[in-house]
Amino acid sequence: MSLLYEYSGNLHVHTPYSDGEAYHAEIAQAALLAGLDFIIVTDHNVLVQGVEGYYSSGDSADRRHVLLLTGEEIHDRMRLPQVNHLLVYGTGRELAACAADPQALINAVNAANGLCFLAHPHDTPLERFSEPAIPWEDWQVRGFTGLEIWNYMSSVKQVINEGTFWQALRAAFRPEEVVIAPNPLTLAKWDALLSAGERVVGIGNSDAHGTVVRRGLIKHTIFPYDFLFSCVNTHILSAQPLNGDWQHDKAIIYKALRQGHAYIGYDLLGSTRQFRFSAHGQHGTAIMGDSLKLGSGVTLQALAGARSHIKLIRHGKVVAEAVDRENLTYTAQQGGAYRVEVWRIFKGKPRAWILSNPIYLEDATYRVASSL
Ligand SMILES: [Zn+2]
Ligand SMILES: [Zn+2]
Repeated sequence: MSLLYEYSGNLHVHTPYSDGEAYHAEIAQAALLAGLDFIIVTDHNVLVQGVEGYYSSGDSADRRHVLLLTGEEIHDRMRLPQVNHLLVYGTGRELAACAADPQALINAVNAANGLCFLAHPHDTPLERFSEPAIPWEDWQVRGFTGLEIWNYMSSVKQVINEGTFWQALRAAFRPEEVVIAPNPLTLAKWDALLSAGERVVGIGNSDAHGTVVRRGLIKHTIFPYDFLFSCVNTHILSAQPLNGDWQHDKAIIYKALRQGHAYIGYDLLGSTRQFRFSAHGQHGTAIMGDSLKLGSGVTLQALAGARSHIKLIRHGKVVAEAVDRENLTYTAQQGGAYRVEVWRIFKGKPRAWILSNPIYLEDATYRVASSL
């Protein structure tokens, strides 16, 4: 396989243009601190223009750069509770006016050559604080690019809601001790859509707001941006490198996301860079997000980069696994969408570390929709 360039980013972040605490330049610095290559700011129902481009760290001896892009998170403010949050990227224009009809909104995104992902699709309520859940509800929609498989703040919210008082307190101050994996309902939904032949790209994000708690004169940030940018991220793979021209690089990032040449990494548990999932068969090779004809069989290979528990999953069922190994090889004889989960122990508990996008193996019984 040809050389692939890898870049990590976070695609769901808020500023004071909606309900976040820090503006774009400060968010870029937090992304640099966390070692990200790109960051996409998605304020609620507003596409902030004029801030996209490369931002640099201040230190000239070790100057680094991060690409900041803007999309938006659109939902119908008139609907209560305010469900159906849609992450929208690459449209180049404001589409919040289409929010009332989720299918019309998705159609408008596609007409504008953009991408869209259903955000925190199985979000839970915060009953302790009387906050309703904001899941995706209108599942009849078609034509979306994918699902936000892992939303870190939604995972924290789930622990606060379902855990004991002490777990809830730990979730607020040491979320990494209580967050285990994406919501199983979202993974089950993903597997169901994949098994039905839908092409669905998975992404993972922070949903960082820089949440501040105020008690009188004391102001405390409980989920700082730089911390959240070191947690769940989306890594993209590209045959073409970024070259420092932000418009060129923006196109590369959106192309990789559209193709599903990407995986979700919980980088706090250990860097997930270097993870690879590929397929080799008589009809060629493929990487995450691609489809390939099954023919007489296809060899799937996952390289985790560290000893871990690697699971190969087809339509919700584990078809092969490797325990305490760095890689897994499997010969598929059946068509279908195959994806990889890598789990590792962190603070005494097995936790999801990497979630790949699927490789679609097509035969007489399994066909996948063409990409948009
Ligand atoms: Zn949201
Ligand atoms: Zn959000």
